[in-house]
Order: sequence, then structure tokens, then C-alpha cells
Amino acid sequence: MLVHARGERSPLYEPYEGGAPEDVETFTRGIALDAPGLGLPDDLADPLRSWSLARPPEGFVSRPALRKHVGQGLAVTRRLARHLGPSWAVRYRDERHSTSKWVCWGCDRLYWERDSHGTPPHPVDVTVEGEFGFGPLRADGFGDFAPDDPAAALRLSDGLVTALRTWAAGIDTTMNLYVRDLEDGKYDADFARLFREGKDLARQVARELGPGRRVTYRGLANGGLAAMTAVTWQGDREL
Ligand SMILES: [Zn+2]
Repeated sequence: MLVHARGERSPLYEPYEGGAPEDVETFTRGIALDAPGLGLPDDLADPLRSWSLARPPEGFVSRPALRKHVGQGLAVTRRLARHLGPSWAVRYRDERHSTSKWVCWGCDRLYWERDSHGTPPHPVDVTVEGEFGFGPLRADGFGDFAPDDPAAALRLSDGLVTALRTWAAGIDTTMNLYVRDLEDGKYDADFARLFREGKDLARQVARELGPGRRVTYRGLANGGLAAMTAVTWQGDREL
């Protein structure tokens, strides 16, 4: 998809039938902002529409006005790419520099070639799991990782990042106490609470990541205390 202000009601375009997706000149077929496949919320569709309509038919005469318009377009395109997730390749037409770079759906990077973003790609499937000594999140190719690891580009809210860290630290603390005391049942209630908290946190992660990614909760992993489960969400939907 190409995001390009041409003064029409939607700035979204795809290649015409048979057009080469690498060639930006072939992006001539408009995509309506309410196209069902996009699921755009109003707070994304409205600024895209007004940004496209704000472009004067003969182009910008004033350089500052052009610069501002290009900046606004990039900001809303980044939000669009994030909303659509990895299933769409989004390019942004920068009228000031006459470039059409790809916009990453996970982080804020722009890049010149499709798939030239570099490694590793941001995880699409994320697992939340409590295990002594490990970070609360895992993904293929990432191992376990911290909730604010920039390479994963999850963009979770500060509150949720803190809650996940606190949860992982709580598992470590409780395991240490359990190993120290080795008393049957003494920490059962704590582990049960951590198990429930983990599920709530996983659901929040799914909600914040949106429908472009899947989140699975696998419970607590440790030995005889394991409380295993496997629930997967995609956005708000339980799969
Ligand atoms: Zn990225």
C-alpha cells in the first residue's frame, strides 16, 4: 500500500492489476478508508482523509507548509502501519524529498528496500510465561526478552511494562522463598495469584498489540509448581 496525498478522500493506493508492487508508479488504484479489510478506527481514518484533502491541487507553494504537511503525513502513516501490522507493506510518499520509503509496522524506522529493515524482524507471535530467572516474554528467534526491548518494538504502555517486570520479579522472589523453606503448600496461594496475574497481563499485552499480532499465555513453568495453560488472543479476541 502506498500512502500519498493526492487531494482525494483517501490517500491509500495499491498497484493496478498486474502492476509491479516494487514500482511506485503502478500504485494507481485507490483504497477506501472504510474498506473492510483495513478495520481503520475513526481516529485514524479521519486524519488520513483530512491530510489527503489538505494538499492543494497545484501543490504547495510555501516550503514551511509543505514541510509541515510531510511531517503530519509521516506521523499518521506510522500509526497506520502499526495498526495494520506485518500483513501489509506500507510505503510513504514524501513529497518534499520525492521518496517512497517503506514504513516499519513495529518501530519508527523508514527504509529503502522492501525487507531491508535488518534483523531481527519484530516478533508477530509473543508468549507470556512466568519462569524463574527469565524475562516475562518470549518469541521465536528472540528467546526471552524484556517488555521494553526496542528490538521487539512492542510499544507497550509504561504501566504494562512495569507490571510485567514486577510480575517476573515476583516469580523470582517467591521461588527463592519456596526453595529456602521447602515447605509443602506454604506458597501455593502466592503462586496461584501469580498465575492469575500473568493471565490478566497477557490479555492486556494482546489488547495493546492489537489484531496484527498474537499473544499466548503459558502460565508458570517451574517444576512441581507449574500451572500450565495455553490461551491465545489476537487483539481482543480469544482464539
Ligand atoms: Zn522495525
